[in-house]
Amino acid sequence: MDGKNTLLNAIRVGMGYDSHRIETGGSMILGGVVIEQGRHFVGHSDADVLLHAITDAVLSGAGLPDIGQIFPNDRPENRGRDSAEMLRLAMANVRQAGWDLVNLDCVVLLESPKLSPIKSELVRRISDILEVGPTLVGLKGKTGEGVGEVGRGELAVVHAVALLHRT
Ligand SMILES: [Zn+2]
Repeated sequence: MDGKNTLLNAIRVGMGYDSHRIETGGSMILGGVVIEQGRHFVGHSDADVLLHAITDAVLSGAGLPDIGQIFPNDRPENRGRDSAEMLRLAMANVRQAGWDLVNLDCVVLLESPKLSPIKSELVRRISDILEVGPTLVGLKGKTGEGVGEVGRGELAVVHAVALLHRT
């Protein structure tokens, strides 16, 4: 099991999860894209729920500390911080640790806006941040069907999974 060249040692999967409350006012920042909705995600940084889940997925796959350990939310420099910059730094750490992305898949649970009209813009932005081709980034939007915190538009939830290969 410890052989360095076996397929089992050459790929790793990492899972990321995040959720942020939604409140009225301001604009949403999702996947590094500003969405003028008159509502915003609540959080210490820019609260980009999608980029946070992706950041944890790639870090976890590479066996690195998670986003909360690398960018603690009690540090003043992380207040209002650009999550795209955090993901860029995290991905640089992943590559430095000897890993790179095979593919990424994300599920966004958000009542509104619907993801389909902005999906290609989000995929393009995320692939730019990760410096990979857009075909490596999967993205699906789901609503809460009007039920629960997601359905009432109070909460956004993202699940992300990243497959990495050893470089
Ligand atoms: Zn977050």
